[in-house]
Amino acid sequence: MADDDARRALLAANLDTVHGRIADACRVAGRDPQEVGLVVVTKFFPESDVRLLAGLGVTDVGENRHQEASAKAAACADLGLSWHFIGSIQSNKAAAIAAYADVVESVDRVKLVNALDRGAREHGRTVDCLVQVSLDPPTASARGGAAAGDVAAVAEAVAGASALRLRGVMAVAPLGEPPLPAFERLAEVAARLRLEHPDATVVSAGMSGDLEEAIRCGATHVRVGSAVLGPRPPIK
Ligand SMILES: *Cc1c(COP(=O)(O)O)cnc(C)c1O
Repeated sequence: MADDDARRALLAANLDTVHGRIADACRVAGRDPQEVGLVVVTKFFPESDVRLLAGLGVTDVGENRHQEASAKAAACADLGLSWHFIGSIQSNKAAAIAAYADVVESVDRVKLVNALDRGAREHGRTVDCLVQVSLDPPTASARGGAAAGDVAAVAEAVAGASALRLRGVMAVAPLGEPPLPAFERLAEVAARLRLEHPDATVVSAGMSGDLEEAIRCGATHVRVGSAVLGPRPPIK
C-alpha cells in the first residue's frame, strides 16, 4: 500500500532524527548512546503505526491510557514489544494494567502497589516499576508523581512486593519552568534512591522537547512521542 509505505518512510526518517539527537546529546554529555533507551510513545496512534515501528527496530512503546493501552497491547501481542505504562493510574485500574504492562513507569503512591502486585501475580508475571517523581513546585497544580519526600516509601513498598521489581524513577518536566534544573533535582532523587536500592538504576526523563536536557542530567530512558509520530490529535 502506498499510504503504508509513505507512513513507514516518515516514521523511519523521524526515528533517524531522534536517534541522531540522542547520539549528539550523549556526545555533549560524554556518555555512551548505548546507555540511553528509547521508548516511543504511541498514545493516540493506531496499531498500524505500532506495527511499522516494530518493523523499524523499535522495541519499547509507551501508552498513557488504560483502555487504549490494553487494546493495543493485545492487538500487537505478536510483536514481542515491551509495553510501558506512563499515564496516571486510577487505583481500580492498577491490577488490570499489571496484566499487560512490562514496565509501569507511573507508580506514584503506596496505595497502587498492592493492586499492581496482585494483578501481576494473577497473571503469573513480574512487572518492572518506576516511581514517578513530581518535579512541580509544591504550589503548582500536580501533574502526577510522588513528592520527593514520599519517594522512599513508594519505592520500599514496590521493593517489598513479590511480583514487582523496583527499577528506578520517572518524571515529566514541569510546565513553565526550564527543564534542566528540574532534571537535576530528579538526578538527586535517583541517586538517593540508589543508596537504598542499588538495582534501581533507571531514570526515565525527557520527551520530544527536552530529551537533550534529560540526557545531560543522566536519563537512561527517553520517552518520545510527537518527534517520531507527528502531532497528536487534540484531546476531546
Ligand atoms: C505523551 C507523553 C510523552 C511523550 O511526549 P512528546 O512530547 O510527544 O514526546 C512522554 N511522557 C509522558 C508521561 C507522556 O504522557
